Amino acid sequence: MPELPEVETITQDLKKRLSGYVFVSIWSDWPKYFSLSGGLSSVQRLVKNKKINKIERRGKNILFHLSSGYMLAVHLKMTGHFLFNEPERKSFVHLIFNIKKGKKHSKLYFSDVRKFGRIIFGEKDKVLARPEIKKLGPDPLEITTRDFLQLISKRKGKVKTVLLNQEFLAGVGNIYSDEALYMAKIHPLSLVEKIPQGNLKILFIKLISVLERSIKLRGTTRQDYRDTSGKKGDYFNQRLVYARKGEKCALQSGGRACGSRIKTVTVGSRTAHFCPKCQRLYK
Ligand SMILES: [Zn+2]
Repeated sequence: MPELPEVETITQDLKKRLSGYVFVSIWSDWPKYFSLSGGLSSVQRLVKNKKINKIERRGKNILFHLSSGYMLAVHLKMTGHFLFNEPERKSFVHLIFNIKKGKKHSKLYFSDVRKFGRIIFGEKDKVLARPEIKKLGPDPLEITTRDFLQLISKRKGKVKTVLLNQEFLAGVGNIYSDEALYMAKIHPLSLVEKIPQGNLKILFIKLISVLERSIKLRGTTRQDYRDTSGKKGDYFNQRLVYARKGEKCALQSGGRACGSRIKTVTVGSRTAHFCPKCQRLYK
């Protein structure tokens, strides 16, 4: 699933290309996308002639601020991504925004093979008041280490579960929580209330560094994720632990590489990747 760096990459692309565009119409062959918005026909009627004033990311959501106080919130879910050009796999496109700026007409394609994407359209206040937006925690890139330590001091339970909780921090998912815990040498099953402050501080610093690094590399493509030009994100090639089960741990200790095999463990419904030797279990 696209996480903060992937959604940030797409949002930055959309911002550059779409500001000032006006909606002409929306096409979709998957009306379920609009179940939270009063249905496709209602959205089609209301979105017409609405101008895109601003685009921003909130957690893993992309928010389109439209004229007349309307908002369109898109969650890419498993496989959704926006494309400026029609992809070769036309059958994956289940939503098209027909937009224009002056006399220039354009299309924005939403490719989504699994069709789990979610769209909320309506008056801005109502969209922002929906629990899936309103309950989101702060963005990790917008808080300080001190804020993080304060927030995590109020939590209990497995650190991996806490990091994945969107009400704790918005935008962190399986890939970057695995990477950050590995770099901070904290076992994913550690209890947050047992991890020393100094190690939590390192965890936050590593989390920020991996998110920023991935944004620079335009995200992670394991399978479906593409940027708006249809290009893959490069972080997958540089990942440290995620999806490296059975490979040798490359962390250094005492001047040589650890060499232990990367293992996986189930945490909630998710699979965490970790080094059993380097990552300490606090419990
Ligand atoms: Zn190791």
